[in-house]
Amino acid sequence: MAGGHYVVLGETLDGQEQTYGLGWGVTKCAMCHGTMRKQETKCFLCGAELPPDPNKKTLQERFATVVKGAMIFSAVLTVASLFTSFTPSFVKCSIITVVLGLVMKSAEQMKANQ
Ligand SMILES: [Zn+2]
Repeated sequence: MAGGHYVVLGETLDGQEQTYGLGWGVTKCAMCHGTMRKQETKCFLCGAELPPDPNKKTLQERFATVVKGAMIFSAVLTVASLFTSFTPSFVKCSIITVVLGLVMKSAEQMKANQ
């Protein structure tokens, strides 16, 4: 299995990014099916531009997801604060929920404006 050894060597030389899982760090060119490195946005064989990765989330999308999670969490806390004293006060929780809701709205607007 000389080929196998070559692949392992190639991955080691390519750096740490490709050490986790086979196929994760490699992208195929849509035009010539040449193998591209993850960092490359242009195929070096045919010069075709790589279309943006639909699985790759932008920073804003990630931010919106985090804010949404935090808002749901604080909404749950708000409800819980009515019944238990283990949470911050109801007023505090509801203010946080409203603020997070506003942040989420503006984050979604930023996304829509793109
Ligand atoms: Zn190509």
